[in-house]
Amino acid sequence: MKNILFTASECTPFIKTGGLADVIGSLPQALVKENLANVRVILPKYGEIPDQWHEQMEEIASFPVRIGWRNQGAKLFKLEHDAITFYFIENHHYFERHGIYGYYDDGERFVFYSKAVIESLPYLDFVPDILHAHDWQAGLAVAFANILQPVKNMKTIFTIHNIKYQGMLHYEAFDDLFNIPREHFAGFEWNGMLNAMKSGIFHADKITTVSPTYAEEIKEPFYGEGLESLLRDRQGDLSGIINGINTDDYNPMKDPYIHANYQHSRVKKKENKKKLQEMIGLPVKPDVPMYIAISRFVEQKGFHLVEHILHDFLQQDVQVVILGTGEYEFESSFSWFAQNFPEKMATLLKFDEGLARQLYAAADFFLMPSKFEPCGLSQLISLQYKTVPIVRETGGLKDTVHPFNEFTGEGNGFSFQNYNAHELLEQMEYSLKIYHSDKLWQTLLKNVNKSKFSWTDSAVQYAELYKDLAASHTEGE
Ligand code: ADP
Repeated sequence: MKNILFTASECTPFIKTGGLADVIGSLPQALVKENLANVRVILPKYGEIPDQWHEQMEEIASFPVRIGWRNQGAKLFKLEHDAITFYFIENHHYFERHGIYGYYDDGERFVFYSKAVIESLPYLDFVPDILHAHDWQAGLAVAFANILQPVKNMKTIFTIHNIKYQGMLHYEAFDDLFNIPREHFAGFEWNGMLNAMKSGIFHADKITTVSPTYAEEIKEPFYGEGLESLLRDRQGDLSGIINGINTDDYNPMKDPYIHANYQHSRVKKKENKKKLQEMIGLPVKPDVPMYIAISRFVEQKGFHLVEHILHDFLQQDVQVVILGTGEYEFESSFSWFAQNFPEKMATLLKFDEGLARQLYAAADFFLMPSKFEPCGLSQLISLQYKTVPIVRETGGLKDTVHPFNEFTGEGNGFSFQNYNAHELLEQMEYSLKIYHSDKLWQTLLKNVNKSKFSWTDSAVQYAELYKDLAASHTEGE
């Protein structure tokens, strides 16, 4: 079995801002439990990680990390959780802050983190065959590993979870922070800036992304965010493996946050709807279809389309509940709708895991009309809670949600092709028609019940990739 070291910037249950944390918190377990690989995970030790975890960490090493002409101290901590060994890199200056991203020096913070990952390798008591790095925050670790070769024959995989966020630094940072010979500059530079995402793609032995459709899409300008030509150059090493979800954790039978646990029962699901309606002040009408969205409020998630159709859609006998935080435009427009349609719409401006689960359990439909979606976990969670997704056919949404066909009885959701508000509205109105037609609704729910998205299949695909990659050096020698 191969030794794999995951490096990433977030991971449940320690710290989460989005789907990346869910993946890093569940893929290693799936690989280890299925005996497919020995996986350990290395993360920044943020001050924001709850104290209960800090208290369990054990310090195992301390070493300097060279950042240009300075030395920054790093301390390495270790923690066992759920059969996985986690390492954490501490530096108060970079990581003892409110929140985890959004600082003027984010680039430098993750230069430090990536260098510290490389420097920590001798102290791990674990020799990785493969460094598996995730998203731009870990992209430089791939580059440093390939240039510095800290472990003989260690290979690298870089997984793109979202190509929109690339981690850009001024080009002068190469001389100020990197301590890498100048001849390597071109491997980091993109359009006059240093680009951590590009560095990962350029240097990795293999590149993966989180769905087969997204792996194709990012080679095109609409989705490639400027890196499409590089991805086309490397397409022989690029593949897509769909994410799963932790079905033990996201399990409506056992979920401690929800009012009435259930497996397939619509009656129990309606009890959850009633409870939620009471809690958030909507009229208690369990038979009225409820549409929800739970997300970061950013353009990517298709909220411009939702804004456009809400006024029309709220003329129907429906309820809409939106949970999330993000860009001011969306927070204010969704709040406006909630104020003006208090009988039909509620907007909850917060990040709240428990509330999110209560919504997944209560609702009938989940809205996710993304402009682009590398994989998307929310539609999988919603299927797991028997809530029917309505999505745009892009990335992982296209790979996991199949449009309901009332004539053949196939499909587990609703979908539309173009980034167009009319197409979204048309599907929402169609979903309403199906909801009110008993027989078709039952057929659709049967398909939803059959949808399965555990990690096992994906873990097998990653294990294959690890095996092929680790074997490649032996052949080449
Ligand atoms: P992304 O990673 O692009 O944000 P995903 O669909 O892959 O989108 O993952 C989003 C994850 O974050 C899901 O687990 C979703 O339930 C959760 N989430 C998003 N917004 C909120 C919120 N306001 N409160 C609680 N959980 C949220």
